[in-house]
Amino acid sequence: MKVFNLESKPGKKVFGYIDMFEYPHGTIEKLPVALIEGKEDGPKFLLSGNIHGDELHGLVALQEVIQELDPNKIKGTIIIFPTLNPGGLLTLTRTPFYAKKDPNRLWPDPKPKDKPKLKYQDPYDENLDEDNFPNVQEVFYTKLYEIFASVDYYIDLHCHAIQSVPYSYIDRIYYDEKKEGDEIVAQEVFDKTKSLVESFGLTMVLEGPPRSYFEEKLHRSTTGSFANKLRKPGFTVELGGAFIVDTNIIKAAKTGVYNSLKWAKMLEGEIEKINNVKVLDEEIWREINIRSKHSGFFVTVVDIGEIVEKNQPIIEIRDVFGGVKETITSPERGAILAVWDDVKCYPNSEIGVFLIKNDIDVIMPWEYEKKEEKKG
Ligand SMILES: [Zn+2]
Repeated sequence: MKVFNLESKPGKKVFGYIDMFEYPHGTIEKLPVALIEGKEDGPKFLLSGNIHGDELHGLVALQEVIQELDPNKIKGTIIIFPTLNPGGLLTLTRTPFYAKKDPNRLWPDPKPKDKPKLKYQDPYDENLDEDNFPNVQEVFYTKLYEIFASVDYYIDLHCHAIQSVPYSYIDRIYYDEKKEGDEIVAQEVFDKTKSLVESFGLTMVLEGPPRSYFEEKLHRSTTGSFANKLRKPGFTVELGGAFIVDTNIIKAAKTGVYNSLKWAKMLEGEIEKINNVKVLDEEIWREINIRSKHSGFFVTVVDIGEIVEKNQPIIEIRDVFGGVKETITSPERGAILAVWDDVKCYPNSEIGVFLIKNDIDVIMPWEYEKKEEKKG
């Protein structure tokens, strides 16, 4: 397979770089890529990490995967980008120093465009619309998308919070109601994606409800765009905290990657259960925010990922002398997925996320937001 100037070779590992853009002083930023092609034909599987430059578990797990995989023992081709954000990696920041937009919100937009026509059109509207002037990252990702379009499966590795259960995020799949048969296609994409996510072996969490999903531009994330624009199975994994590298999380991530390669029939062997980290194996969960009512210090009183029943105390908000000001209880049966890397809180501040069993639709029409507003 050809990846710009690089070509994979049967039974070999090929390493190289793709030109991203030119710096003001004339040197070229480059994206590292590893191509591992088996001797036998098979699917194409894309793996990437570190699109948020401070999230290191994906980078390290993929480095080990590149070293461990034997091209003589795989079918098909594996394309690995250990970092999708080399600039952010160097400064250990979510965004690169040369472009401040979240790199995981700049991928081709799958949503059908529906811009309102105005009676008065200002001649400079176009000039002020930042969509018409993509930054260097967005231009490069649009070019790189050609590789995304040529693969069959995709996993993007991220990090969440130091105190979090590593988990897989599944994007909801949207469909165009005006397009005949599109709902069936969406369901098929979702079912295949879910099967792939199950093979990985971590806790499964559905991405946020439509309004927050669109507001946060998650449909333009790597896997949101892959699943909704290219309509192929791909998902995001959230592997514990940024800035740190935990060997148990690396082991779990590698087991998950190998499981999914086995699922795709690219690697021989049985799918292995992940036992280095906690896995909540009920069907699909969804997240809700945990907020405090008072200023103070938050401390969990149950383990992260421990199943609790409705109304059970989960977090205490304490004053500076340790007195309990507030006890946060579970809104329903579920578990704390994560608390943020902090101990302080203010009224209404988000201090973490709680998992509840998902009971909302996993596929939805693109126009969902409007319909929801009409109802209200
Ligand atoms: Zn991330």
